[in-house]
Amino acid sequence: MSSQTTDFAIIGGGIVGLATALELQSRHPNVKITLLEKEPRPALHQTGRNSGVIHAGVYYAPGSLKAQFCAAGVPATLAFCAEHSIPTQTCGKLIVATDASELPRMVNLETRARANGIEIEQLTGEQARTLEPNIAAVAALLSPATGIVDFGVVALKMAEVFKARGGEIHLNAHVTGGTEGAQGITLETSIGRYFAGKAVFCAGLQSDRMARTFGADVKFRIIPFRGDYFAIKNQPPNLVQHLIYPIPDPDRPFLGVHLTRKMNGGFTVGPSAVLAGARESYGKASVDLADLGSTLGYAGFWKLLVKNAGSALDELGSAMFRTLYLKKVQRYCPRIQAADLSPYKSGIRAQAVAPDGKIIDDFLFVETAHGLHVCNAPSPAATSAIPIAAHIADRLLRA
Ligand SMILES: Cc1cc2nc3c(=O)[nH]c(=O)nc-3n(C[C@H](O)[C@H](O)[C@H](O)COP(=O)(O)OP(=O)(O)OC[C@H]3O[C@@H](n4cnc5c(N)ncnc54)[C@H](O)[C@@H]3O)c2cc1C
Repeated sequence: MSSQTTDFAIIGGGIVGLATALELQSRHPNVKITLLEKEPRPALHQTGRNSGVIHAGVYYAPGSLKAQFCAAGVPATLAFCAEHSIPTQTCGKLIVATDASELPRMVNLETRARANGIEIEQLTGEQARTLEPNIAAVAALLSPATGIVDFGVVALKMAEVFKARGGEIHLNAHVTGGTEGAQGITLETSIGRYFAGKAVFCAGLQSDRMARTFGADVKFRIIPFRGDYFAIKNQPPNLVQHLIYPIPDPDRPFLGVHLTRKMNGGFTVGPSAVLAGARESYGKASVDLADLGSTLGYAGFWKLLVKNAGSALDELGSAMFRTLYLKKVQRYCPRIQAADLSPYKSGIRAQAVAPDGKIIDDFLFVETAHGLHVCNAPSPAATSAIPIAAHIADRLLRA
């Protein structure tokens, strides 16, 4: 097996790793940068299996990294797409209250969006129905800056640009171990050994394992949450003009089952949020014993489950029974029927959970002497990838 030296190694060819590769390359065009991806293609995991929403930044705690990077990520993503002729649509989003009990939460969300400096408009039920005649709402928030894109396409373009500018991408390169020494980091991979002056680990669903393997002081664990989608058929192409989201439940980490326009002209509903038996395998009954053992053997998971037993059961119910899933969608789009739902590719979210069972909400980065680990990069990390990359480069190149 070969042995290679590189100035910077990036582990993981999702959108965060690829954006980081491009950012480091733009700051240091003459150094050797090597991206190692274990799959035969980039973007096969979270980056290629998400809702495709360019989030405007409505939801995130003011002052958080999520709030900052998401707001900066919208123009950065649109600029990258415009430069490389990748289609996007700024179609806007309606976040709909379907009964009066949701109105206080809707108002809180509006306040949060304003605190984040995000454009938001409150609509009456009648105004919402004028915009979207197929949607039931007693009131709604309109976020005009929300849009859609295929993040898998964005990531593949990043890979192409990186390589065209002299970067190296080594595929089927599974990082299986390594050590950090005085001069840098040695990476053992399925295709040989690499020695890197500095390494950035952008390993998504494997971020906790990579961090522990390379000696980072981390206590969290990745809990994989599966999200199933359905494509909508039998409905007119003008079913909705905007993305339609429910008012999120503040006690749940995810945004709820939403109706999303796709870049190819269709619609999907989803994703659900249920514990996955495997981190990177997408069959409904997929189980990886090491992954499942890692979840079930973690006290933080059980504490999370106890705190969220009600919502976990609700999610499990909708994952198992299409009629329960459908009910969630019909609350805001009553014309969608069971026969209109056709299975669509699922995604699995990498969510870091602390030992006390708390979801780690914000993006999380942990440094070692020569390395930086992206430990928690859930949604909206696809939207935020370019500012995340700038943040990583600032931290890595400081010193
Ligand atoms: C269901 C779902 C819906 C979402 N919706 C949205 C949305 O609408 N908008 C938004 O902004 N975000 C959304 N997200 C979040 C977004 O997709 C992720 O935050 C983002 O893609 C994370 O990118 P990443 O590069 O960190 O991870 P990934 O895309 O998962 O990439 C990690 C890469 O690391 C590689 N890797 C792992 N371990 C190793 C190893 N040991 N050696 C070599 N390579 C390795 C993997 O093979 C993988 O390619 C969603 C996510 C999901 C799952």
